[in-house]
Amino acid sequence: MAISIKISKTSQSRIHLCDFENIEFGKIFSDHMFRVDYEDGKWQNPQILPYGPIEISPALSAIHYGQSIFEGMKAFKNPAGEAQLFRPIDNINRLNKSAVRMGMPEIPEELFLGGLKQLVAIDKDWIPTKEGSALYVRPFMFATDDYVGVRSSINYTFMIFCCPVNSYYPKPIKVKVEKKYVRASAGMAGYAKAAGNYGISMLPTAEAKKEGYDQIIWTDGRTHENVEESGTTNLFFVMEDKLILTPRIDGNILEGITRASCIHLLKEEGYEIQERDISVKEIIEATKANKLTDAFGTGTAAIIAKIAAIGFEGTDYFLPEAESRKVSNWLYNTIYQIQTGKIADQNNWVMPVE
Ligand SMILES: *Cc1c(COP(=O)(O)O)cnc(C)c1O
Repeated sequence: MAISIKISKTSQSRIHLCDFENIEFGKIFSDHMFRVDYEDGKWQNPQILPYGPIEISPALSAIHYGQSIFEGMKAFKNPAGEAQLFRPIDNINRLNKSAVRMGMPEIPEELFLGGLKQLVAIDKDWIPTKEGSALYVRPFMFATDDYVGVRSSINYTFMIFCCPVNSYYPKPIKVKVEKKYVRASAGMAGYAKAAGNYGISMLPTAEAKKEGYDQIIWTDGRTHENVEESGTTNLFFVMEDKLILTPRIDGNILEGITRASCIHLLKEEGYEIQERDISVKEIIEATKANKLTDAFGTGTAAIIAKIAAIGFEGTDYFLPEAESRKVSNWLYNTIYQIQTGKIADQNNWVMPVE
């Protein structure tokens, strides 16, 4: 099925206002956005229009009861200057998994992908090419009923907008093991990119920042003994540059696409990977014995966020310096070069836009 999208282009591009050398993360928006509305039980009126405010009712159901989900992916230019996306089908599938969990309608792959490709093609000049940069793409869906009763909304809007970005975490981060608050527990919606999961993280993260940390490491809700993930990244721990540990998919952590890419590449490279429960104790013991040679978070925004130190029960445990990190440096370069078409994509992860 070919998707027919109504296109209204802006008469005044803002691209000359963007300083591509110094882009502030998430504050600059490209010229256009995609929108499609779910009404009368079907997705209707797909359109690309100038980026700008949208009108909503004060009773908008998403604001009150939180049926709101999102995705994050990136577009790049290859050396020939052609726009390409990294693993977009995985983002589409994950958004639909989030939609099901939140009682929202799924969006057909061809509609999501059609809007996405056309939007990125139209705003192609917004894809930055400086080392480490990309066009961050934010798809999202929210409930639009203006009705104050607590029930699943009948109407929804799905949109996509784009932000040119530079690298996200320029220097290695200090993380604190969180033992008071819980992000998600069995039966909740930890695996969904649902807005509420991020709302509940703001206070714990702010408290950690006050103590001098950049992020928190969530622990499991039942025992607080096992590590789960950190901010919007999945976690990896490298033992003596050989054995790599990452928490297993348990329904509580977000199933990261960068995580999946890292596991695949590391296996191909011959590393031993274990996806399992990882106790905080095991990690702290390894730092004490100088066996933890690398640790990092993985996510679309940063690709790899190196961990400089782990704070646990008031003590900071430091990791080897950033330059010596064999695994995280190799992963970052490999993934970024696949994304930007500088090395061959043997896994069909890259999708051309035009
Ligand atoms: C988005 C996200 C990730 C990373 O997922 P990617 O697909 O790699 O970007 C990890 N954890 C959380 C909580 C997230 O929201």
